[in-house]
Amino acid sequence: MSCGNPHATPCTEVLSLTYLYVDGEIDEVHYLEVTTHLSECPPCSDSYAAEVSIKAMVKRSCGGAEITAECRARIVAEVRQISATYRD
Ligand SMILES: [Zn+2]
Repeated sequence: MSCGNPHATPCTEVLSLTYLYVDGEIDEVHYLEVTTHLSECPPCSDSYAAEVSIKAMVKRSCGGAEITAECRARIVAEVRQISATYRD
């Protein structure tokens, strides 16, 4: 997945950091790298938006209980479906 533009930080690295970024658990250096990248890379920006939605849905659906991999997978699938519908 790439938008075809060159980036200081590779998309794969940004995507692997998105989860920490959403959770606010990322260090300052990486935070700046990801912020810059998201502003210039629409595909990664989409992934980030999906991650934000997932986080909100996990909070709602799992109600503070420990998030199981199963619960997260279910929500990820749901979000993918929603964004697919949205794009059509
Ligand atoms: Zn990217």
